[in-house]
Amino acid sequence: KRDANFVPLSPITFLPRAASAYADRTSIVYGSISFTWRQTYQRCCRLAAAIQQLAVSRNDVVSVLAPNTPALYEMHFAVPMAGAVLNAINTRLDAPNVAAIIKHAEPKVLFVDYQYITVATKALQQSVSMDMGDHRRTMPLLVVIDDIEKPTGVTVPAPSGEGDGHHQLPVLEYKQLVARGDTARHPPRPVEDEWDAVALNYTSGTTSAPKGVVYSHRGAYLSTLALLLQWGVGHEPVYLWSLPMFHCNGWMLTWGMAACGGANVCIRAPTAEAMYAAFAAHGVTHMCAAPVLFNILLEACHEPLPRTVEVLTGGAPPPAALLQRVEQLGFHVTHAYGMTEATGVAMVCEWRHQWDALPPSERARLKARQGVSALSLADADVIKDLKTMESVPRDGATLGEIVLCGSNVMKGYLKDPGATEAAFRGMWFLTGDVGVIHPDGYVEIKDRSKDVIISGGENISSVEVEATLYQHPAVQEAAVVAMPHPYWGETPCAFVALKREFKVTKEEEILSFCRNKLPHFMAPKMVIFVDSLPKNSTGKVQKVELRQRAQRLTKT
Ligand code: ADP
Repeated sequence: KRDANFVPLSPITFLPRAASAYADRTSIVYGSISFTWRQTYQRCCRLAAAIQQLAVSRNDVVSVLAPNTPALYEMHFAVPMAGAVLNAINTRLDAPNVAAIIKHAEPKVLFVDYQYITVATKALQQSVSMDMGDHRRTMPLLVVIDDIEKPTGVTVPAPSGEGDGHHQLPVLEYKQLVARGDTARHPPRPVEDEWDAVALNYTSGTTSAPKGVVYSHRGAYLSTLALLLQWGVGHEPVYLWSLPMFHCNGWMLTWGMAACGGANVCIRAPTAEAMYAAFAAHGVTHMCAAPVLFNILLEACHEPLPRTVEVLTGGAPPPAALLQRVEQLGFHVTHAYGMTEATGVAMVCEWRHQWDALPPSERARLKARQGVSALSLADADVIKDLKTMESVPRDGATLGEIVLCGSNVMKGYLKDPGATEAAFRGMWFLTGDVGVIHPDGYVEIKDRSKDVIISGGENISSVEVEATLYQHPAVQEAAVVAMPHPYWGETPCAFVALKREFKVTKEEEILSFCRNKLPHFMAPKMVIFVDSLPKNSTGKVQKVELRQRAQRLTKT
């Protein structure tokens, strides 16, 4: 029996608190738009009412396809306040992938930013044709999100005002929907159980088809607070939305900004121009950036930053040389490691004060490690043998698989018992990432298990070879994959994009640079120059594609 004063943990409780504690402080800035926390709370209550008026019931899914706009931010609160589950879809996906998600998630409503109307309507048609013969399924209602930054000449389809569940015509435009929310008749639905779903996020599918992961209110609440604490975010930061909110709900910082009264600076795309304009105009204090974004920041930086910007990086291994370069510009980096299945961040490279006095290259090397378990998890380990679940020694050398456990790790993939079973050993979630534990207890990723190169029986960490390539002054981006070899089995093959001013660099120069810095067997045997590396929808390098190219080259 529950205690009378038991209140389920939920990240949406941060919003009414922000409306009172930070009432007149800025909640969102976007172009000429600006809201306060009191206004954001009122708008979210109205939107939550309007969503209920669309006959959305408790635990129904509401999907959205939108860049980092105020609407997507508001939906992070309004959808769960309507008792529904938010499914923020990756905007970089094409129509067939969006269709697969819609078919799997079965949303009642699909919100679409004007820029993605074509993708969304195609996806809706495809999701229905996938279902041929199943006449019970109805189409989600479509709500169009118009935008102040819409270029002139672009039109959005006129809303029909009502949906019959069969057409792809939008029911309403977002602003009209917010305006018609009747909060007296439809107040926010209270969270009944903290284990209920708050969000449904699909993995980016780097190594397989996208899979659905359900986040609970409790998990999201704990992950949000844990990250704010481990990143050291105080109250009222100015947070730049360079990381897509659709990626693990912006690593929990959507809800997090309400918890600490931050100002959300929204931009539609993280171009160098938009980011540097935001630093100058809004005094940005915090942002997240996957390592690929560092290149954009580095290329465009011509003068010192107006103030230090705290950057949380993750999503892919950040090479130490790159960390060192961005810190020289005035960014202060915190490195975290995570994944969809662990409700965002799973490890943080917590900084130790005694490292401050070390030379910059050494500091960057320590910071490139993935770190210690996130506070939101119960435990993290690196396992040498999955049969006995024996841990690796803390020697910084023995490789094992990184495993995680705790209530913030997903219970399983939605409607996919096979994939769920394969992902767990007892209580441990198997990340598929290969790493070591250093004597100080910090974990360092050496590879994804599928990306390890095995040459003459020796394991080569592609991440380590890439880190060496990044030390070369001409290298803009680098990725290393296995290339079949008749004698060694596999050898490392490097794909390198050069900086514009170094386009004349020769293969031999890169090869000998690596041979001087790495054991011979680890040094790449071939360098293939490319304009840029192929990336997936979340900016991760598509090694599968590179491996296929390397294989084709061996055959020819
Ligand atoms: P997907 O596995 O489909 O790419 P995610 O977006 O959840 O989906 O990516 C999680 C993966 O990204 C991790 O398993 C890991 O391989 C990689 N990753 C995330 N953060 C880091 C990091 N800081 N260092 C190295 N790899 C990382």
